[in-house]
Amino acid sequence: MYTYLVIGGGVIGTFIARELSHHEGEVLLVEKEDALAQVQTKHNSALVHPALMAPPDKGELKSSLAREGNELYHELLKHWDIPVVRHGALLLARSEDEVESLREHLKAGENRGITDTLFLSKEEVKKREPKLCDSVAAGLLMPSAMSANTKALTDMLAQNARLNGADIRKGVEVAAIESLGEGAGFRVKSTEGEEFETKYIINAAGIACEKIAGLVESEVPYKTEPNRGEYVVLGPEAKDFVHHIIYPLPTKKSKGVLLIPQPDGTLRLGPTSTDQRSTTDAPVTEEGKASIKNDIDRLVKGVPLQYISHTYAGIRSTIDYGDFYIKPSNEVDGFIHVAGIESPGVTSAPAIARYVVHEVLGKLTKVERKAQVKEFELE
Ligand SMILES: Cc1cc2nc3c(=O)[nH]c(=O)nc-3n(C[C@H](O)[C@H](O)[C@H](O)COP(=O)(O)OP(=O)(O)OC[C@H]3O[C@@H](n4cnc5c(N)ncnc54)[C@H](O)[C@@H]3O)c2cc1C
Repeated sequence: MYTYLVIGGGVIGTFIARELSHHEGEVLLVEKEDALAQVQTKHNSALVHPALMAPPDKGELKSSLAREGNELYHELLKHWDIPVVRHGALLLARSEDEVESLREHLKAGENRGITDTLFLSKEEVKKREPKLCDSVAAGLLMPSAMSANTKALTDMLAQNARLNGADIRKGVEVAAIESLGEGAGFRVKSTEGEEFETKYIINAAGIACEKIAGLVESEVPYKTEPNRGEYVVLGPEAKDFVHHIIYPLPTKKSKGVLLIPQPDGTLRLGPTSTDQRSTTDAPVTEEGKASIKNDIDRLVKGVPLQYISHTYAGIRSTIDYGDFYIKPSNEVDGFIHVAGIESPGVTSAPAIARYVVHEVLGKLTKVERKAQVKEFELE
């Protein structure tokens, strides 16, 4: 019998499996796809957001885990050669009218103890990014932001988890969960008829969290509200068009359409934000592409769209709870929800793993660090 079974091999489940593998107990992660990080973790902006872009009014837990997560990535990068772009980010006032709001963001950050943000005048910001529109009136430099290859990161996490004894199984889709009696654990069945017994289940199935929870709970405490984000990607020919990650001022609903230089030299433009019913279909639409172009044209001039290499879309695993939902089930002992992990989920992932293991599981069972941990070794 396993001690812990993690459902979902995105960045969240894999970070959790790695953290668990550093502690006593047998760990199994199951992922339905034939590779890790194929769903939300791959179809996103791949940003480690700065703390300023994760304010508490968007969710207290989200905000604190994103801030801690950003710091943990900088620590992790001392040990692992994760492909990243670390030029920082600029938050822009696109006109004089937005400068006051930009200053309010700076002030709100200072009130939260964020001290690394730098206010840049129109001249200073243009000096850093000559392609900005002439109407851009000021900017905030947020040095801790970076973009990262999230697939490479997830594979490294899995390697480290395996070296610490975890089993990582790909191509295993959970189809049913049977309780073995109160507090006795679960029998998890795959679509292929394989069975695994486990004391605890950690549900990190992303957009499928509600569906998985519905296998054991009669009333799942949240509803999924899928929201699609579309992107246009420019090939490496556009590599030096901008150097920083570029954000407009965020709206109530989203962080807006960004320019995001990637470690492979490509430049992602997006995402849009469209509510939809489907949790699986992620089309890129003509409207989406037009609105990306429209928004980007308000940030930079002469975006080299002749270098478009491809488009893609991801579905945010938003729920109706208003924050990350990381709690044990109210109905079934030993079942842990890690749900509603929308943006900034990549950013928060290292801190989510610690939170799940120490704050959630640590209150249900004895979580004891192994005497010998290979903390950063890779295969
Ligand atoms: C458009 C968009 C932009 C974003 N931008 C950012 C950003 O810049 N920065 C940031 O911090 N966050 C961002 N996010 C959020 C971030 O991508 C997610 O929070 C993060 O990837 C969630 O990871 P996850 O592991 O929970 O989900 P996923 O990566 O979706 O992983 C869940 C896994 O569970 C598996 N699974 C599902 N059902 C089963 C089953 N029955 N059996 C076995 N396995 C199963 C799936 O195959 C999948 O691999 C963005 C999200 C979107 C959609």
